[in-house]
Amino acid sequence: MDRGAGVYLWDTSGKQYLDFIQGWAVNSLGHSPKLIADTLFKQASTLLNCSPAYFNTPQLQFSHDLVSSSCFDRVFLMSSGAEANESAIKLARKYGKVKKQGAFKIITTLSSFHGRTLATMSATGKTQWKEMYAPMPGGFVHVPFNDIEAMKSAIDGDTCAVMLELIQGEGGVNQADLTYIQTLKAYCEEQNVLFIADEVQTGFGRTGTLFCYEQYGIEPDIMTLGKGIGGGFPMSAMLCKEALNIFEAGEQGGTYTGQPLAAAVGRAVLTEINTQSFLDNVIRQGQFLRTQLDALSTTYPISKVRGNGLLIAFDTSISATDLATLCFESGLLINASGPHTIRLIPALIVDKEHCEEMLSILTQCLIRLTTDGK
Ligand SMILES: *Cc1c(COP(=O)(O)O)cnc(C)c1O
Repeated sequence: MDRGAGVYLWDTSGKQYLDFIQGWAVNSLGHSPKLIADTLFKQASTLLNCSPAYFNTPQLQFSHDLVSSSCFDRVFLMSSGAEANESAIKLARKYGKVKKQGAFKIITTLSSFHGRTLATMSATGKTQWKEMYAPMPGGFVHVPFNDIEAMKSAIDGDTCAVMLELIQGEGGVNQADLTYIQTLKAYCEEQNVLFIADEVQTGFGRTGTLFCYEQYGIEPDIMTLGKGIGGGFPMSAMLCKEALNIFEAGEQGGTYTGQPLAAAVGRAVLTEINTQSFLDNVIRQGQFLRTQLDALSTTYPISKVRGNGLLIAFDTSISATDLATLCFESGLLINASGPHTIRLIPALIVDKEHCEEMLSILTQCLIRLTTDGK
C-alpha cells in the first residue's frame, strides 16, 4: 500500500480500495486525517520526546481529558494494546499480593484476544500458537464466554481478577449479554475480584458510545485502550479507579510510556470523537449496515449479522477467505476473522454513500461466488 485518504487506500500500482478494515479498527478518523498530521507536526516541533522520568504537557492534558470523560481516576499511557493489558495484569497481580493474601489467578474467556506478548497470549482464549512458545506464563484460567456459572466456579480465593472484552473482536464480534456482565460485576465485588475490561477494540467510539462499558451500566475497575485511541499512531492506555492507585514509582514503566507525540495525537482524536454528533454517526451507519446486511441474508448465504456501532460481523456458509480475497480483487478490504466469519471495521467517519459502495461490491462478490459454486 502506498497512500491513503479518508476511507480509501491506494496501492503502488495506483489501484483504489474502499477500506473496511482500517488497520484493524485503528484508523478511527480514516486514512491520513489532517487533524493528526497537523497535531504531529506541531507537537514534533515543540517536544518530540523527553523521558518517562518527567511528566510532559500533552501526557497530563490527555490523561486529564480521559479521566473527565470516563469513570476512572488514573491513567498510564503506552504504545500497544498488549502492553496495556500487561500493565493491567501486573496491577491486578499487585492488588492480589497486597490486598488479597497473594491471589494471582486471572480468569479470561474462550475465543478472547488480549495480545501477543507471552502473558497476554496466555490470557488469550485461543490455543493455536501456545505450543510453539511453551512454556507459557501461568495463572490464567479460561472459561466459556457468556457463561456466568462457569465464571463463578472458576473464581476462587486465589483469583485476583477477571479480564474480558465486552464484545470479543478478533473472536468474531461476540457480544456479552447485559445480565451476564451485570451479574459478573456484582459477583466480582462480592468476591473482592477486579473486573478488567479490555476495550482495546471496543473503546474510543467504535461501538457507538465513547466506551463500551457505558452500554452495560457498569464501571470496570480497570480498562485498557489501544487501536482507535491513536487513530493510526501507536498509542495505548490503562485506566483505573483511585483505589487501584497502588503502583509505586518504578514498578511499571517503559521508554515510550507517556510519549508526548502519542499523547498529543490521542488528545486530538478524543476531542474529535467525543461529541454526540460524531457518535450518532457511528450508531446510524452501523444500523444502516446491519439492516442492509440482514436484507441481503434473505438472498445470499450470509447470516447472524451482529455488532454494535461500527464493529460488525456476519457469518457466511461460503469460505470467508474466498469472499475477502474476491472483495480485495474488486477493490474492497474486509476482514475474514474466522473460516466463516467476516468482520467490518470501517473508519468511524464513513457516510451512507461509503456504506452503499461497500454493500454493492460485497453483493457482486457474493453473486460471483455463489454462481461459480453451482
Ligand atoms: C488488538 C487487540 C489487542 C492487542 O493490541 P496490540 O496493539 O496489537 O498489542 C488486545 N486486546 C484486544 C481486545 C484487541 O482487539
